[in-house]
Amino acid sequence: MRRIVVIGYGMAGHHLVARLLRAGRHTPAGDFEVTVLGAESGAPYNRVLLPEVLAGRIDQRRIDLSEPDDSRVTVRAGVRATEIDRERRLVHGDDGSVLPYDELVLATGANPVLPPLGGIRDEHGLKPGVHTLRTLVDLDRIQDQLTAVERGGAALNGSALNGSALNGHARKLRAVVVGGGLLGVQCARGLTLRGLEVVLIHQGSHLLDHRLDADAAAILARTARGLGIEVHLECRVRSVLRDREGRLTGVQLADGFRLDADLVLLACGSAPATGLAARAGLAVDNGILVDERLTSVTDPHVHAIGDCTRVHRSLRAAHGLAAPALEQAEVLAERLLGGPALYQGSSTIARLTATGVDVAILAAAPSLVAESRPDHVARTVRLTDPVGGTHRAVTVHGGRVVSSVLIGDVSAAARLTRLVDQPGPLPENPLDLLFDTAV
Ligand SMILES: Cc1cc2nc3c(=O)[nH]c(=O)nc-3n(C[C@H](O)[C@H](O)[C@H](O)COP(=O)(O)OP(=O)(O)OC[C@H]3O[C@@H](n4cnc5c(N)ncnc54)[C@H](O)[C@@H]3O)c2cc1C
Repeated sequence: MRRIVVIGYGMAGHHLVARLLRAGRHTPAGDFEVTVLGAESGAPYNRVLLPEVLAGRIDQRRIDLSEPDDSRVTVRAGVRATEIDRERRLVHGDDGSVLPYDELVLATGANPVLPPLGGIRDEHGLKPGVHTLRTLVDLDRIQDQLTAVERGGAALNGSALNGSALNGHARKLRAVVVGGGLLGVQCARGLTLRGLEVVLIHQGSHLLDHRLDADAAAILARTARGLGIEVHLECRVRSVLRDREGRLTGVQLADGFRLDADLVLLACGSAPATGLAARAGLAVDNGILVDERLTSVTDPHVHAIGDCTRVHRSLRAAHGLAAPALEQAEVLAERLLGGPALYQGSSTIARLTATGVDVAILAAAPSLVAESRPDHVARTVRLTDPVGGTHRAVTVHGGRVVSSVLIGDVSAAARLTRLVDQPGPLPENPLDLLFDTAV
């Protein structure tokens, strides 16, 4: 009986277990048992949907993922792995448990990056009024503050708010969201839907600056402003301000300007959770380094998938998106059961679906781009309508769609996504790809 231990029961860990069980039904090598250690207590859930719950668009109970009902799987929710002894092939849990393994999978995800701001944390973690959004616990902490106020001006940060409340009272609650990436914009919109006044502060010259060019981002910023979000670009928060009782009152910007705030949400990106792996002597460089088999470059019995992983050959940083995490889980499940699968990168689609702000950013997997015929020149067409709030762009290369950005109207996204993965004949004019009606 092969003993597989999985550390991390997030989206990648959960999908790996499901795939092992499914494939293991038909595989002779399916003689295995899996133990999963998950630091978060409770059922696994779809992390991607947390902003939708924050926005009040879906109920928290609807994001749970189904749990396996199979005697080969033991899930230890609420147990954190604290040490890996690679020599003896043992994993230590913070409940005192010691688990032997034949194959170990690290699926530890990522942690929010905390910017170096004064006044945001103490020895217990983030101080009252300051938030990140990575887990259900984070979400609950935000919800607790909002709910307290919704229930009649009770306390935000433990204090009365001079009659301020979410809807229709003297002063609306004010949130400052720090970071204008996908998550920051999505959270900013979510909080406006909850009735807050929201200021979005972004250090870069335009929103989503890792994913959008300036023209496309300008459309997005305009849309966000139209929905009541105050967007400040090229702007840096220096510190969080508190009154004498320690209650959060606002933020101070690098230029000395102050903004009032009742709540600060930090959305400054995430970093692969590699501490455990590094302490175990595994090679780590902005992600646990693995080869195309998703096996550590240091130890053939250790594997890594999801946000904590960096595939060595491409030396590409972890994606931080769900699709690659799930595809890696599928490849590794097949390999652990003796199959030949290799991970060759994922096509990605980054979506922002907050009400009134629709964005889809598609990118073909690097291996697909490499397949494009080298004698062809990449061709990009763009169509921007600032007044209508739409931007569409597509790049084709060697008979393939290799990337696309859609803002405001994402109706062509599904078809473009299909064309990225299963190329079909493309219309002569790439502009025709940008409308759902195109043939
Ligand atoms: C708010 C939010 C919105 C997102 N929206 C999108 C989106 O729209 N589209 C998209 O593609 N992606 C989105 N993502 C990213 C996506 O959720 C991640 O890419 C995906 O969750 C990665 O899965 P993972 O299993 O690698 O990591 P995670 O889902 O983070 O799971 C890692 C798990 O490992 C556990 N863990 C860590 N260390 C230990 C340890 N030592 N012992 C035991 N357990 C441990 C953690 O507690 C966690 O439960 C979003 C992420 C967030 C936070």
